[in-house]
Amino acid sequence: MFRVLPEWAVQRLTATYFRANAWYNVGSGKFHSNQSSVDHANMKVKILPALSDNYMYLVVDEVSKEAAVVDPVEPKTVLAAVEEAGVSLTTVLTTHHHWDHAGGNKELVESFGKPLKVVGGDDRIPALTQQVTHGDTFTLGSLQVTCLFTPCHTRGHICYNITSDDPDHTPAVFTGDTLFLGGCGKFFEGNATEMHKALIEVLGALPNHTLVYCGHEYALQNLKFGAHIEPANTDIQAKTQEIKDRREEGQPSVPSTIGEEKKINPFMRVCEASVQQHTGTSEAVETMAAVRTEKDNWKAPKL
Ligand SMILES: [Zn+2]
Repeated sequence: MFRVLPEWAVQRLTATYFRANAWYNVGSGKFHSNQSSVDHANMKVKILPALSDNYMYLVVDEVSKEAAVVDPVEPKTVLAAVEEAGVSLTTVLTTHHHWDHAGGNKELVESFGKPLKVVGGDDRIPALTQQVTHGDTFTLGSLQVTCLFTPCHTRGHICYNITSDDPDHTPAVFTGDTLFLGGCGKFFEGNATEMHKALIEVLGALPNHTLVYCGHEYALQNLKFGAHIEPANTDIQAKTQEIKDRREEGQPSVPSTIGEEKKINPFMRVCEASVQQHTGTSEAVETMAAVRTEKDNWKAPKL
């Protein structure tokens, strides 16, 4: 619907859209989340809440202290986290070109004292230095980053899967606006076939224990929708209680795992009879389209 507009206008509309939706998604308290860290043995992920409901992530290789940042829309918060952690930031991992993910790239590059590698899959991403595609890999100290092409929300969306040879390492995937906790991104520039491929064939093929770090705090609204699709799904009920408790303490809902998403996320469950019964479809891509349409028109009860 934005195709006739110049790129700056598209970005501004997207920004307005996300701001308008933000209070509704995070919860009644309007407070986003505290910063927190997750240890993955030789890797640390610092969760950096940004704007009203976005997440940026500082990913540190504990062996070399080399770091990357995912979607640094608030450069000042990122620079403070880098300084506090005493790490060497070398890389920006951009999931997609939308303003609330890529909108801080230029300022970060300009205000950072050293050159930064800015990675992404779309030439609309500001300050891009390395355009990547599916299967491209590079290292971050002792860690390996693999680029997973997941077009649909935008046509250049990339997820970043981070693995290591260290047997104690827990893999992590940064999913931007492709896969959310309990949901997926809107199909702005793609279709159900592409999202089916992204969620079922690409992300669904990762090991179940892979931790999932997504781009927005939408968990409670998504889980409510999931319970509407599958009222008898006890995994959704248990996860809802867990996330409610976390949110009441100001903690982010992320990360989940690929294995959990397969149990609680209707968009990853489009092959399940319970989801297909709800949508009245019998084929997974059709079910994906039907669940997305229903979510787009769904008026969630207030949090
Ligand atoms: Zn987006």
